[in-house]
Amino acid sequence: MVRTLDSIDSIGVVGAGTMGSGIAQVAAQSGYDVVMRDIETEYVENGFDTIEDSLDRFVSKDKLTEDEAEATLDRISGTTDLADLADCDFVVEAAVENMDIKRDIFADLDEAIPEDVALATNTSTLSITTIAAATDREEQVVGLHFMNPVPIMTGVEVVVGENTDDDVAELAHALAEDLGKETWESDDKPGFVTNRILMPWLNEGVRAYDEGVASKEDIDKGMKLGTNVPMGPLELADHIGLDICLDASETLHEELGDRYKPAYLLKRKVAAGDLGKKTGEGFYEY
Ligand code: NAD
Repeated sequence: MVRTLDSIDSIGVVGAGTMGSGIAQVAAQSGYDVVMRDIETEYVENGFDTIEDSLDRFVSKDKLTEDEAEATLDRISGTTDLADLADCDFVVEAAVENMDIKRDIFADLDEAIPEDVALATNTSTLSITTIAAATDREEQVVGLHFMNPVPIMTGVEVVVGENTDDDVAELAHALAEDLGKETWESDDKPGFVTNRILMPWLNEGVRAYDEGVASKEDIDKGMKLGTNVPMGPLELADHIGLDICLDASETLHEELGDRYKPAYLLKRKVAAGDLGKKTGEGFYEY
């Protein structure tokens, strides 16, 4: 038996980067106690800085009062020790997009967390079924794929693995809705709905730029004005993080073949450490 939504008071978040800090923030804003874990104190502190900046923006736009922002921060504690998640009623993993690391984290969570607690992963492309197989509770592992930036984006993709229980999938939908999000469901196929369709589009934007079809500004403008999307492919890749785009593209390439081959320039940018907004330079400078 897995815990039901009304017995969930606290949420553990593994990873305090772009996504983990966002998930911790929306959970705390919705009244949950949150324990946010990363591997180094410095990364946990960076996560808190990101949350504070985001809450400040909400306050300056009158979307949150100062008291609500303060109460949100008070509900989040940070740690580098996975054992501190032992009292959490639900856990979301948002560490780096690497299968070996995620499987190690899930094996450790399986040891540290009571057996009636569901474990979710925010993976963009990796198999939920393979991650779940690192635990002895495969039926309680589910994909809960938040979108970036988590405090702003309203959609969450629930991904159902080969062995995920219906109750656990339902809990994932219900919890995301309780965090103010709308959900849709995908089977555990590479890239799910969103990244299966998004990644080739981003890579084609990078290739068009690399092959001199147009300037980066005109590629982004053409796609924004021509197809009514809020960001063009190069802007969006910078926003996601070029390393995350490359990891996702490589997984899709491996699983689905050549139509998912990552663009050469994407690889070169990542090799140079120009990962987009988060490092101050990607296709654009920030
Ligand atoms: P990020 O690089 O910003 O953050 C990852 C964090 O995980 C880092 O702080 C790192 O120190 C930490 N970490 C690494 N190993 C860890 C461990 N063993 N335990 C705890 N923390 C650990 O990455 P991100 O953009 O936040 O992505 C996190 C996950 O979310 C990935 O699976 C990614 O594919 C997915 N995702 C990303 C986006 C996006 O737009 N960036 C969108 C949806 C999903």
